[in-house]
Amino acid sequence: MEGAGSFGGSGGHRLYYLNSLALDRTAEPWSDLLDAGREDGRLVREALEGPGRADLVPAPQELHPELLGALQRMGMERLYSHQEQAIHAAWRGPTIVTTGTASGKSMCFNLPTLDVLCRQARARALYIYPTKALAQDQARALAAFGLARRVRPAIYDGDTSRETRREIRRSSNIVLTNPDMLHVGILPNHGAWEDLFSNLAVVVVDEAHVYRGVFGSHVANVLRRLRRIAAAYGTEPRFMLASATIANPVELAERLTGLQDVELIDRDGAPAPQRRIAVWNPPLTDEAAGARASALGEAAELITRLVRSGARTICFMKSRKGVEVLARLVSDALQSTDPDLAGQVAAYRAGYTAQQRRELEGRLMRGELLAVITTDALELGIDIGELDAAVVVTFPGTVASLRQMWGRAGRRGRGLALYVAGEDALDQFFCRHPEDFLERPVEAAILDHESELIYRSHLLCAAHEGPLSSEDAEFLGPRWEAQAEVLVSAGALRRRPGASRGAYVPRSDGGYPAAEVSLRSASPETFAIVDVSSGELIGSTEAARAQSTVHSGAIYLHQGRSYEVRELDLASRRALVTPFSGDWYTQPKRETDTEVVRLLDRRETLGVTLSFGEVSVTDTVLAYQRRRLSDHARVDITALDLPPVSFSTQALWFELDAQELADSVSLEVMLGALHATEHAQIAVLPLLAMCDRWDIGGLSTNHHPQTGAPTIFIYDGHPGGIGIARTAFTRFEELCADAHALICECACADGCPSCVQSPKCGNLNEPLSKAGARVVLARMLHEGAGADRAALRKPPAVV
Ligand SMILES: [Zn+2]
Ligand SMILES: [Zn+2]
Repeated sequence: MEGAGSFGGSGGHRLYYLNSLALDRTAEPWSDLLDAGREDGRLVREALEGPGRADLVPAPQELHPELLGALQRMGMERLYSHQEQAIHAAWRGPTIVTTGTASGKSMCFNLPTLDVLCRQARARALYIYPTKALAQDQARALAAFGLARRVRPAIYDGDTSRETRREIRRSSNIVLTNPDMLHVGILPNHGAWEDLFSNLAVVVVDEAHVYRGVFGSHVANVLRRLRRIAAAYGTEPRFMLASATIANPVELAERLTGLQDVELIDRDGAPAPQRRIAVWNPPLTDEAAGARASALGEAAELITRLVRSGARTICFMKSRKGVEVLARLVSDALQSTDPDLAGQVAAYRAGYTAQQRRELEGRLMRGELLAVITTDALELGIDIGELDAAVVVTFPGTVASLRQMWGRAGRRGRGLALYVAGEDALDQFFCRHPEDFLERPVEAAILDHESELIYRSHLLCAAHEGPLSSEDAEFLGPRWEAQAEVLVSAGALRRRPGASRGAYVPRSDGGYPAAEVSLRSASPETFAIVDVSSGELIGSTEAARAQSTVHSGAIYLHQGRSYEVRELDLASRRALVTPFSGDWYTQPKRETDTEVVRLLDRRETLGVTLSFGEVSVTDTVLAYQRRRLSDHARVDITALDLPPVSFSTQALWFELDAQELADSVSLEVMLGALHATEHAQIAVLPLLAMCDRWDIGGLSTNHHPQTGAPTIFIYDGHPGGIGIARTAFTRFEELCADAHALICECACADGCPSCVQSPKCGNLNEPLSKAGARVVLARMLHEGAGADRAALRKPPAVV
């Protein structure tokens, strides 16, 4: 049974492929179900993870005696080895811990923090959580130490009442908050927090992998502002981070905090249950068109069978509507045969009140529920007890979050982690490459704190928090002054008369720039999205994207819920929406132009000239198409009359040789070949950079006026760019190889949603030539391989 190597990067658990199935499966409640899947080919791959024994070591005796006493009372005289290592690492310098789900990660930062607080009565700590629910969970965990005399944790977020806020500022020594509150509430009012900043010993950033893309680029700036204010009050807090498994934890920690030499703790000493991993692909219903049975129906059948066999199951889905539908399908199916069980299935999603959620969590903990179907509201570290099976329906976007969801399974020493594939390109790519899925180093979390618009908006916030001077290079980076000059030209900052060179202050004393900066938007220019049925502001979108995402008639998805746009008001920058329950979605038809503004890097590879730089993208939304949800069939197309919108961002582009291209594909399919190549590359880019295909744009043309050649552009979809195109530029060869595999291995006749069709194509997937793209990519990869061979054949240089 010893098949292959270890589970890449997951911290030492071994993963075995089941070549022979000589394992004793009789004890597992899901044996029959898996047997059936093996028989009819829906079960496309299995692997076995663990079991791993706990690596226990004594708690460091240097810890404060009261803390050691608390550990003893909690029955934790011995710690997992990674917890002990993390304590020592935290004493040395900044750290990041990336051990698995349920490995006791929070102990890794709680113990060093509590140790400091036990020793120094005045010391304070700041814990930063991406969601309120997680902060609450952590506050409960801290209370469990029973150190009330020394440790006074308190949550400070939007829900904290005015009266308690003052008390927290005065006396709480662990303040649990979120990046938004830090950005808009705490840092701009640092004067009121003087005691905290003057004694700030520790900053904890948990779930750090969440801080990527636009949000991460903002949070990296907020944390730099935090270090700067702490320094102004004379402190240099120790940073401790924790994250799910990602490809680049140290890089992420350093980019987020601006600190160097962050130490990584990733050798997991927690016991691992034996977990069976199964990849399940719904059967093809039409091979030529690439159509498959629905993942939802397949998941309903699987969960029903798991519940019947007594397995406590959690199921994750992206959309709220999907969650509701699936929960209903399962309880209906159970109703006919086992009515008692039907009541033990529940849906759990964001949008429930805090009390409803608490109640469901409680029922889950006590084992009163057999199955819970949820959006990723439950993905993060909330403690819901142990479950037998975790079912993930369609790819959640990143392998990192898939593994986190799978990590929920494994009660009584064994578990089932099941992935039910959808028809999207990445889902089907993984079904054909399960090894990649299981072993591939997970994606890198990408962010760019110097993305210009984001950086400048925080520089202005920083100036309001205290005059900018040459000492700020330490926190804000070497380029701060050039950007400050831009803000001077824009009338937002001024140089202080008489002050030494480089002292900048806001032009006006009033104003509150932090309130204008949303941490989820790449540009300060946004459109508000208002639900007119309730009057509620449900969110905002970048102005540059408003016309393509919230034009009138658009179906807009927000936190898994659908809305229909009634009106897009360009003048007042508002989209008015109402809740939507119809059975169609919309796709805008756009005309896009890209203009190269600045070349930043260039190299020759795979027989093409590959460039990276700044581009200006101009988009005109011409019309939108309605399509049926069930089978993607076109319903109709409606013209729109909207002005063009431009934004600048980062892009890679590559030029192909027109003559060589004409030799390999006919003129009629040339544009379709380029277009399909672009789509395939965009589809697989999330394998390299943690992002969504909706974060990426593309353009292909037979002849670009600036390059004078057939050219494909792939650009960051957010103004300013957040590092996605740069990653694609650096790892272009992998991108082409993955795109080629995606196309070659899809069994469809001329392109389908599992390979070259894109749900967000501005040209409504026309023209597309799957065969042509195959030739283009094969030729490039062949050139690349040829070049490598040539390099090998070259005689060694004579020195
Ligand atoms: Zn296909
Ligand atoms: Zn397209």
